[in-house]
Amino acid sequence: MTVHLLGPIQLEEEVERLIEWLATFGKTEKGGVTRLLYSEQWLSAQEALKEKMEECGLAPYFDDVGNLFGRAEGSSPSSKTILTGSHIDTVIEGGKYDGAYGIIAGLLATHYLLKRFGTPKKTIEVVSLCEEEGSRFPLTFWGSGSVTGRRSFKHIQKIVDSKGISFVQAMNECGFGQERFRQPFRNDIQCFIELHIEQGSVLEKKKKSLGIVSDIVGQRRYQVKVVGESNHAGTTPMPCRKDAVAITSELITYLMKQAKQVCDQLRVTVGKIKVEPNVPNVIAGEVVFTIDIRHHEEELLEQFCSTFSRHFKNVSAQYNVDILLNEWLNVKPVKMDQQLLRLSKEIAEEQNLSHEILVSGAGHDSQMFGTYCPTALFFVPSHNGISHSPKEYTAAAYLESGVKFLIHYLYRLAY
Ligand SMILES: [Zn+2]
Repeated sequence: MTVHLLGPIQLEEEVERLIEWLATFGKTEKGGVTRLLYSEQWLSAQEALKEKMEECGLAPYFDDVGNLFGRAEGSSPSSKTILTGSHIDTVIEGGKYDGAYGIIAGLLATHYLLKRFGTPKKTIEVVSLCEEEGSRFPLTFWGSGSVTGRRSFKHIQKIVDSKGISFVQAMNECGFGQERFRQPFRNDIQCFIELHIEQGSVLEKKKKSLGIVSDIVGQRRYQVKVVGESNHAGTTPMPCRKDAVAITSELITYLMKQAKQVCDQLRVTVGKIKVEPNVPNVIAGEVVFTIDIRHHEEELLEQFCSTFSRHFKNVSAQYNVDILLNEWLNVKPVKMDQQLLRLSKEIAEEQNLSHEILVSGAGHDSQMFGTYCPTALFFVPSHNGISHSPKEYTAAAYLESGVKFLIHYLYRLAY
């Protein structure tokens, strides 16, 4: 059964206007946005959003880490909260849409539902999560991690930013972290719904308006050190060498070849490499390089990693050199909720909204929520797939169709 909730309503202008408005907090000369956690721009944005939430008929409040919520109380007293939103912080010189769009979309959708249908049965809250990017302090997902209990004050005690300001001091100066607000951990969340820009180009290339995320990839990161022997480039015969660069090139070639064979969804990247002594006429004595590996199935990740580390051991024995492998990050893949996924497809089909089921290669707050409560993540197209840049852009028509989709979605969940 098709539900016509919208009639001729136009949201295009409104959603663009609000995106531009939020981008004024932290606007840079290059046209980008820099809104780092607990900065002046960050605080002004959260306070302005609080007022905006009130104008939209929501009851706003902060928690003690600076997450901002706007609550539309449901009529059913025992109902848990349907939470929707995203993060307010940006990277340095980021774009207007990353994070911000999910908050604006939640706000517009809830405002529309309240005006059109009044009090929902179940409580809806729009959230502006305080931090996701890790751009000021070396810690990510502080907002969603605090709500879900994956992060707590013990994780931030020794952390400082690049200027030497401590996490705790920055937080306190904004008024948070002193128990003046409610504790961030929640046990009353029914589900989390996040709308985000794709930050890739799949949707644009396929001319689809909406991406429905089935899985968020797991990630493993390694640092590899190849210890060879530094020697004269002219006098050392080829068979006598322990050339760290030559061995490294074999390792990387192996990785890339394997990656292509195993699965086209697997992503393997060697993005950083350091050679010692890095001199043209000296055989390299040492190479340090990184490996970033992503896939949405834990089993496949595990198998790929154990296969290549076995191979590295063999190469180490073959050339009689040390190859030291250090895994410093291991994040498990997260599945989005199957029931919510079915509902997503159903609504997209009802609304004749062109859509694509896809895997998210980046984290997002949904990664935190996904192991804590049923979670759904949606993408709208990013022009040329560009993000974390002033060039980040999503056409107004896509912004609007995303909000309309969210209206239908929240209606089905809350009314
Ligand atoms: Zn984001």
